[in-house]
Amino acid sequence: MILIIGAGAAGSVVLKKCIQNKDVFGEIHLASRTFSKCQKLKADVNDQCEIHELDADNTEDVILLLKKLQPKLVINMALPYQDLSIMDACLATNTHYMDTANYEPKDEAKFSYSWQWAYQERFKKANLLALLGSGFDPGVTNVFLAYAKKHHFDRIDTVDIIDCNDGDHGHPFATNFNPEINIREITQEGRWYKDGEWQTTEPLSVSHSFDFPEVGERKAYLMFHEEMESLTKHFPEIKQMKFWMTFSDNYLTHLKVLQNVGMTGIAPVKHHGVDIVPLEFLKTLLPTPSELGKNYTGKTSIGCIISGMKDGQPKKIVIYNVCPHQHAYEDVGAQSVSYTTGVPAMIGAKMIVTKAWTGEGVYNIEQFDPDPFMEELPKQGLPWKIKDLTV
Ligand code: NDP
Repeated sequence: MILIIGAGAAGSVVLKKCIQNKDVFGEIHLASRTFSKCQKLKADVNDQCEIHELDADNTEDVILLLKKLQPKLVINMALPYQDLSIMDACLATNTHYMDTANYEPKDEAKFSYSWQWAYQERFKKANLLALLGSGFDPGVTNVFLAYAKKHHFDRIDTVDIIDCNDGDHGHPFATNFNPEINIREITQEGRWYKDGEWQTTEPLSVSHSFDFPEVGERKAYLMFHEEMESLTKHFPEIKQMKFWMTFSDNYLTHLKVLQNVGMTGIAPVKHHGVDIVPLEFLKTLLPTPSELGKNYTGKTSIGCIISGMKDGQPKKIVIYNVCPHQHAYEDVGAQSVSYTTGVPAMIGAKMIVTKAWTGEGVYNIEQFDPDPFMEELPKQGLPWKIKDLTV
């Protein structure tokens, strides 16, 4: 039995993919803050799950539910704010833990693994596994790197993670995952890694054109992304690492206006005597990411450009997945950004439940054998390819 927490865009993909793999997971439970979303999903999957109302900010409530259900594993598909309260509840109830995004305090837009790595000894002592970052990026990109290191390189020198959404959802402005988390992430300073040091840039101030596999030349912007923190720790040979994401000019113009008028702020402001957080209000106005799938055209193309040495020769490859939005919609009624998050989350859970991956403590996904995960990706809807590039 497993428990999925979070009935949003990515959580609904995890639910549907777990149901497709029911023989592995057994009984499937879904808990989330807004019960009506659980009810809607339960109806969507023909009652093939049990549902619960839960505010995961409240550790005691999570403990009560875990004590009642006694699942093998919690898949945390709520928001980064809930990571620690859910991890505490897992420790209190002897339950394995998994997520797709690292912890971020609500009152400060700063995400880092440090808070969750601090749970290492407690999970180890309890003989429990916490698997961090089993989405696409972080997630599949980390596994791509581990796979490249295992099979294609003796030494990795540089990595560029390249993330392109070459799709059109038909709305003037929308985010593809939780708007609050998305906008907090992309309005942060850019950071990249060189020779053991982090270099900082102004938000979205550095761009570069990449030939995205099966998409073509697109302009991408340098950003900080959490997998760089764990990958540079677990592959200390890496000399340089950067993360790049595409944004359309239309998206950036909307974002600039919203920033200029204060709509992306995370500090409360008084409105008619009531405290409101502008970014939370903006989320209420924007389209819901879980409802973008139907008319979404185009595809995502996400991967890693890796250079290094093999058998004494310099080598460079790109390892990637391309996911058409309509493929995601046909499989589970989602768009590709939720799909490429939810499918790997299900696969990570499968690795734990089948004991293909075992361990005690807090692990990032690149610390496990990449092979069984890479074998699952195409079977579950996310085929991958490797191409040699000119050094
Ligand atoms: P959504 O906003 O669509 O879904 C979040 C869900 O969590 C909602 O159902 C929400 O409930 C629920 N939730 C929020 N707070 C609580 C709480 N306190 N207790 C219980 N449930 C709660 O977001 P997404 O599905 O787009 O994103 C989910 C996660 O996936 C995020 O952490 C995001 O960062 C991560 N992600 C990871 C990616 C990767 O590649 N690694 C890519 C994209 C996303 P309610 O309806 O009440 O708001």
